[in-house]
Amino acid sequence: MSDTNRPLNFLEHIIEEDLENGFPKDALRFRFPPEPNGYLHIGHASSICLNFGLGLRYNAPVNLRFDDTNPAKEEQEFVDAIKRDVEWLGYKWNTERYASDYFQQLYDWAVALIKEGKAYVDSQSSDEMAIQKGSPTEAGSESPFRNRSVEENLELFAAMKAGKFEEGKHALRAKIDMTSSNMLMRDPIMYRVLHKAHHRTNTDWCIYPMYDWTHGESDYIEQVSHSLCTLEFAMHRELYDWFLNQVVDESKVRPKQREFARRNLSHTVVSKRKLARLVEDGVVDGWDDPRMSTISGLRRRGYSPESIRNFADTIGIGKRDNLIDVSLLEFQVRDHLNKIAPRVMGVLDPLKVVITNYPEGEEEWLDAENNPEDETAGSRKVPFSKEIYIEKEDFREEANKKFFRLKLGKEVRLKNAYIIKAESCTKDADGNIIEVQCSYDPKSRSGSGSEESLRKVKGTLHWVSISHALKAEVRIYDRLFTDESPDTHKDKDFMEFVNPNSLNVITGYLEPSLINAKVGDQVQFQRLGYFCVDPDTSSEKLVFNRTVGLRDSWAKIEQKS
Ligand code: ATP
Ligand code: MG
Repeated sequence: MSDTNRPLNFLEHIIEEDLENGFPKDALRFRFPPEPNGYLHIGHASSICLNFGLGLRYNAPVNLRFDDTNPAKEEQEFVDAIKRDVEWLGYKWNTERYASDYFQQLYDWAVALIKEGKAYVDSQSSDEMAIQKGSPTEAGSESPFRNRSVEENLELFAAMKAGKFEEGKHALRAKIDMTSSNMLMRDPIMYRVLHKAHHRTNTDWCIYPMYDWTHGESDYIEQVSHSLCTLEFAMHRELYDWFLNQVVDESKVRPKQREFARRNLSHTVVSKRKLARLVEDGVVDGWDDPRMSTISGLRRRGYSPESIRNFADTIGIGKRDNLIDVSLLEFQVRDHLNKIAPRVMGVLDPLKVVITNYPEGEEEWLDAENNPEDETAGSRKVPFSKEIYIEKEDFREEANKKFFRLKLGKEVRLKNAYIIKAESCTKDADGNIIEVQCSYDPKSRSGSGSEESLRKVKGTLHWVSISHALKAEVRIYDRLFTDESPDTHKDKDFMEFVNPNSLNVITGYLEPSLINAKVGDQVQFQRLGYFCVDPDTSSEKLVFNRTVGLRDSWAKIEQKS
C-alpha cells in the first residue's frame, strides 16, 4: 500500500540509523495520536499515512491513541468519526488507546515528582503566572509558592483531585528552571482543575493532565519507539525529554520525539477548531459537507482512499511548513477515478434537439462502452429517440472553425449514436435558443461497422433521450474560500474569505442506467467530470455530487489572467 521503492524520507533515515546503531527492529512501534475534538482533515491524512506507512514498512505495530485530556472540547462523536476515517483510509491499528486510560498512572507519577521536590502546587492566578514567565529574552521569576513543603504540596494536590477547589485556584507545576532559554521549561503546568465530565472517565477526575505531561508518558507506557509530531512541537522536545527522564526505566524503550512539517492545503483551512466554526456558523452543512477539507467531506465528495493516500505519498514528508495547492489533490482523484469510474451520459444544462427525420415514437437501445480505460468494465445500453437533450453550450448558430461542436449546417457525432446535422433552431421572445432541429444519418450508427459509421466528424457530444432521462439533483462545488491561504492574514478573520458561491444546485438529466446507482457510487459524466451519489439520495430523489471536473479549470483561468 505504501510505495517501498521510493527514496527514504528523513524520518525513515533516522529510523534506519537507529537500527544500524543496534536498536532492535522488533521494538519499533508507532502511534497516531489525534485529539477527539473534531473530525480528521486532509492534514491528518499525512500523519496517518506516515505513521501507518512506517508500520507497514517495518512490520511494526501502530496504535491509535486518543489524546483525550481536555473534556471541555472532546466528544464520543469525534472518537467514532476518527476511527471510521482511519479505517476507511485503509489502515489497521494495533490497539485502540486513550490517554485517559493512563490518568491514574500519570497521577501516581505526579505524586512521586512532588515527593522528589520536582513539582509543586501554585496558588496564583494564571495572569500572575503569565507575568512571571518572562519573555524569550528575559528570565522568568519564581512563584512565591515554589518552595512549599512536600507535605503541603501533597495535601493540596490531593485536595485538587478530591474536588475541593474551584477551577483556576491551584495548578500543579513542574519545578524546572524559571531562567531557561526555552520558555516551555519555565515550570510548566502539569495539572489544572476542570469540573467537566469526560466522555470516558465521566466525573472520576476533576484534575486533568496537560499535553506535555501526558504525551511522552503515554508514548512510554505504550513503548512507542518513534513519536512523530508536527514542527510546532519542536520546542516541546526538551520538556518531553525532561518528563521522560523522571520515569524511564533503562531496561525499557525510551521514546524519541521527532518533528515533521504540517501540510496545509490551498483554498481551505486544516484545523479542527476552524473547521468547527464553519460547522457551528452554518457555513457548511456539517463536518462531512463535501466542501470541507475533512476526510469525511472528501469521502462524501467522491474521493477514494487511494487518491488520498497517493496524495500524501506524492507530497511526502517535509522539514518545512508549506502550502500545497489543492489542484494536486484534485489531480490524484482524477487520476484514480479515470481508471475505475464507469462512463455515463448526463446533461446538466439542457437544450432540446429534435431529430426531424427520426421516426416518431421509435426508440433504440444502443451499445455504450462503460470504461475505455478498463477492458473488463463491459458495456450497457442507452436509449435513443427523436427528442434528446444536449448541453446548451454545445450549440451555436454560428461559430468560428475552432468550435468543434454543433452549429447550423454542420455535423457532430452523438456519443455511442449517430451523426447529426443542425438544420434550424427556434428562439423564444427574448431571443434565447430553445430548440434545435437536426437531421441524422441513419447509416452512421457507432459500432455498426458501416462506412458512414467510420466517417470522421470533428466533434462528439454527450446527450440523453428526453423521454427516458432521469431527473437528478446535481450539486456543483467550488472552492470554499476565495483566498489561497485564508487563515494567514494578520488583520482579517478567515471567515471573511468564504466563497459565497461554493455550492450550486442544479437539475441534471441522466441516462436511465443510473436508476440503480447506490450511495457512494462514482461515475464519470462524459465530458463533464466525476460525480458520486450523495447519501441524501432517496427513492424519490437522486442526488449527485461533482467530485472534480475532467480538467483543471483553475489552472487555465490562472494562465489566462
Ligand atoms: P488541529 O489544529 O486540526 O486540531 P492538531 O495537530 O491539534 O490539529 P491532533 O488531533 O492533535 O490535531 O493531530 C493528530 C496528529 O496529526 C498529530 O501528530 C499532528 O501533528 C498531526 N497533524 C495535524 N494536522 C496536521 C497537518 N496539517 N499536517 C500534518 N500532520 C498533521
Ligand atoms: Mg490539537
